[in-house]
Amino acid sequence: MQVLEVLHRNRQMTRSDIARCIGVNLTSVVRVVAGLVERNLVVANDRDEKRQRGRPSDLLTINPQAGYVVGLEYGRDHLIGVVVNAVGDVVVHEQVARPPAFETSPATTEGLAAAVFDITEKHGFDARSIKGVGIALHDVVDVHGAWATQDDPSATPFPVRDQLSARLGKFVFVEDVSRAFAFAEHEYGAGVGCSDMIYMFLGSHGVGGGIFVNDRMLISSTGLCGEIGHVIVDEAGELCQCGSRGCLETVASPERIVKQFEAYERQGVATSLRGAARLSFASICSAAGAGDKAALLALHPVATAMARALAPVVNVTGARVVVIGGRLRLAGDIFLSELSAGLRRRVIAGLAKHLSIRFAQLPEHAGAWGAANQALSAAWERGEFLTSVSTEIDAAAP
Ligand SMILES: [Zn+2]
Repeated sequence: MQVLEVLHRNRQMTRSDIARCIGVNLTSVVRVVAGLVERNLVVANDRDEKRQRGRPSDLLTINPQAGYVVGLEYGRDHLIGVVVNAVGDVVVHEQVARPPAFETSPATTEGLAAAVFDITEKHGFDARSIKGVGIALHDVVDVHGAWATQDDPSATPFPVRDQLSARLGKFVFVEDVSRAFAFAEHEYGAGVGCSDMIYMFLGSHGVGGGIFVNDRMLISSTGLCGEIGHVIVDEAGELCQCGSRGCLETVASPERIVKQFEAYERQGVATSLRGAARLSFASICSAAGAGDKAALLALHPVATAMARALAPVVNVTGARVVVIGGRLRLAGDIFLSELSAGLRRRVIAGLAKHLSIRFAQLPEHAGAWGAANQALSAAWERGEFLTSVSTEIDAAAP
């Protein structure tokens, strides 16, 4: 099992690398790898007849078709599903047409289970080839995989992970949506190769964050971590839903930005969006990206507040990269330069010098992808793939 775990983590290794990495002798590794190749879990690039097979220096990789993991991202008005293969690549992604009502109830568990069954059946995956399910949930997720919504924060957290695991008969991993996006960006997007990174997401129901230090994503023993949205940026500001006053979330909220924009419009500030039928946070960000005066004015306090909130986090964690997710990406370089300038001014010189601020790169299904990848890593660690036999894998390949 250890061999599979290190191979999954390092993507490709030789038998000698593996022996060194897990501290066992080469003969044992050669024996274990032979069994894994036989079971189609590992591909050895030593199939050349003329060469000696099983050489310590030949490269080994995980067989991408050794099994699959389903990922879901579930919010108030959407449910996105992906299937990733055994090395984490997305092989299917889609919006689920009728997501269950966003509430902590057994009906929700049923709705999520139905989504998992539908996506696997529709795309022809054998149920036995699915090694786990990862779910990115909006609002509050604790380390026991229990979930609470902001609509009813005082309710006892709902044990969605355990219920779903029992319903599906599969290993289930539940993650906070911001951390799932952060994980995906770190593995495949704007944060690839960045050991120390802050991901920040500005969504319609709050600000979320995920923090990597030395390639490890931070998580506290309760699950609460990376709450950049509740860093106070204005002591005299508005009351936040967390009970404090002037949190970043009270300034950088899409609703508030739309209100600010409307106020500038009423004052007669020039804007290309005047009289627009569908004014939204996204349309304001796009207009700002094109240099619209009222839109830029509405986003200005957001850039300042984000710089104020991020600076202490950069100083505390030593981050070298800040990745900004969500619709703000539409505001483009104009917004990014304002945020960068404000942030650099506020962090210690040694960090400011190397700091890079950029937008997230991955598509909308990144949250489901991130959760699927976290579940995939856990599935390798737990030995979920060892139940595979070669006939199952062949039957499961889409
Ligand atoms: Zn707050």
